Amino acid sequence: MENLDWANLPFGYIHTDYNVRCYYRNGKWGALELCSEETINLHMAATCLHYGQEAFEGLKACRGKDGKIRIFRPEANAERLQSTCQGIVMAELPTELFIEAVKKAVKANERFIPPYESGATLYIRPLLIGTSAQVGVHPSSEYLFLIFVTPVGPYFKGGFAANPYVIIRKYDRSAPLGTGIYKTGGNYAASLRANKIAHELGYACEFYLDAKEKKYIDECGAANFFGIKDNTYITPLSTSILPSITNMSLMQLAKDLGMKVERRPVPEEELSSFEEAGACGTAAVISPIERIDDLENKKSYVIAKEGKPGPICTKLYNKLRAIQYGDEQDVHGWVTILD
Ligand SMILES: *Cc1c(COP(=O)(O)O)cnc(C)c1O
Repeated sequence: MENLDWANLPFGYIHTDYNVRCYYRNGKWGALELCSEETINLHMAATCLHYGQEAFEGLKACRGKDGKIRIFRPEANAERLQSTCQGIVMAELPTELFIEAVKKAVKANERFIPPYESGATLYIRPLLIGTSAQVGVHPSSEYLFLIFVTPVGPYFKGGFAANPYVIIRKYDRSAPLGTGIYKTGGNYAASLRANKIAHELGYACEFYLDAKEKKYIDECGAANFFGIKDNTYITPLSTSILPSITNMSLMQLAKDLGMKVERRPVPEEELSSFEEAGACGTAAVISPIERIDDLENKKSYVIAKEGKPGPICTKLYNKLRAIQYGDEQDVHGWVTILD
């Protein structure tokens, strides 16, 4: 295994040995190629550079106590990438090819998968870009699919902690019938200003309301929102939220714990009634919400009363991580073990 300071790795890019590439040309996908080059040779008129034909994914692999490498729900990422491809008219990658590429990238960089005790994981970043040289606005006829991996440190360095968020009304991440439901870089570009403002004000992240009415909760930066009250897990239903695989998994785990699950529009005022709330996504799994400030309306929804994660957030967080590391039985068939 590589000699890295695993427990203190940042959430950043660390060089690994290989990436996996696959080219779409003449209407079909080619063979998976293992590549040690970190740069890509791209035509300056490629559609990804000018017209945003870019999709990405994010998932992770964990080394278990038993030494086995587990990849969490790669089929779900394959399907979400296909949905993004439909959304911005790109060539779809078959699920089997996606999973084969993920396994190949993880296997080739096995020495970078952090040890079990470290809390660090191997982050897997699939990327799909339109590469044809074009000036007119049309979908590309050629694509490059690429996967790189990089070891990332434990998200909560000082332990699982709660964070403050701020509602930003001035800028929207995505339009009601726009690309918010797809994992495409354009949404991130659109979020940078709000994110910068939130950070400058000392918040963990920006909090979005629905773009049309600014009445309902959408997302917390690049993470889904959920609230807990009366033994119920509540998460927003909206046409501009990215369908988080972590959120889908937490909904199932909440049901397994005997909780009710509701997916429906959540009005801002309802924030005051939650016993617990969290932001969820691959990187942090759950980032518990301490409070959400609405500066324009001079309101502060304090959720974690003592500033600490609540019992249900903690239980869900531990349960999901236990499945990812193989400490708990994978009853839903979410884990792919590397052979
Ligand atoms: C990727 C992403 C998430 C989290 O999705 P996971 O599959 O749970 O990692 C949430 N919101 C946005 C906007 C995202 O891009």
